[in-house]
Amino acid sequence: MFIASDLPADLIRCAEADGFPRNSCGWIKGIYGVVRRNDFREIVAVTQGDCSFTQALMEVLRYRGVSVVPFAFPFDRDPDFLSRELAKMAARFGTTVAGGERWKERLDVVRRLAHEIDRLTWEEGKVTGEENHRWLVACSDFDGDPDEYARRAAAFLAEASARPARNDLVPIAFVGVPPIVSGLHACFEEAGARAVLNEVQRQFAMPGTTGSLVEQYLAYTYPYSFFERLSDIKAEAARRKVRGIVHYVQSFCFRQIEDIILREEVGVPVLTLEGDAPGPVDGRTRIRIEAFVEMLQGR
Ligand code: SF4
Repeated sequence: MFIASDLPADLIRCAEADGFPRNSCGWIKGIYGVVRRNDFREIVAVTQGDCSFTQALMEVLRYRGVSVVPFAFPFDRDPDFLSRELAKMAARFGTTVAGGERWKERLDVVRRLAHEIDRLTWEEGKVTGEENHRWLVACSDFDGDPDEYARRAAAFLAEASARPARNDLVPIAFVGVPPIVSGLHACFEEAGARAVLNEVQRQFAMPGTTGSLVEQYLAYTYPYSFFERLSDIKAEAARRKVRGIVHYVQSFCFRQIEDIILREEVGVPVLTLEGDAPGPVDGRTRIRIEAFVEMLQGR
């Protein structure tokens, strides 16, 4: 609702008009703008395991009269802690964990379509990095309608599987939070490289097979330490024969610091790109992208 809106910059301005500092994350401000402009009365906030700004965001929203339901991922991946959080959440919304498990089975069928779109990207070269990004990132909430998502995903799969394969582009990975800047994937394709792995977006699609909700949310790498993400990045980059990694970081985001570990550990060239506000790729970034892809082509 933020980044895909017609005027995402307006939502940021709404937050700044309410006092959010200019030097705070654009995603936080955009989400605040969405909640305020749409007059949401109740939200779920991931208070541990997502973003260090969430607590302050939650406090301001509560102050503005929004009811906040907190959810915490355990830093140490303790299954009992996670299980208690799920039970609390279920009770809060008048259901049970068993009811949630039935929904998981239903959503797993929908997620399999997203996994197949992902496979067509890296194994068959029939889906672009941008398409991969859009289909996988949408798995965070299936655009609010899982059945409709499944119908559209099945139609997309039928169309994409019939395309000729494109194997002339340098395979790269995008890691880090989803970009606030639009057109990054297309810019890489114009320069001669294709993202065959969108790390966090793929995690939103809950890859792999899991039996229960607790197993699923323990396998989900994003909310825990960077080391869980790193081992997933290394394994998938090797499986997909990735030759370079683009680390997208958001201005004023604490996750920028994780770039230190990524660069030292990942074993392929890394290009770190920083985005601040919604909008197209700027000229300077475009030049850096072209130079990076040229370097990969020459290796
Ligand atoms: S980009 Fe970083 S600071 Fe911004 S919402 Fe995401 S985790 Fe938080």
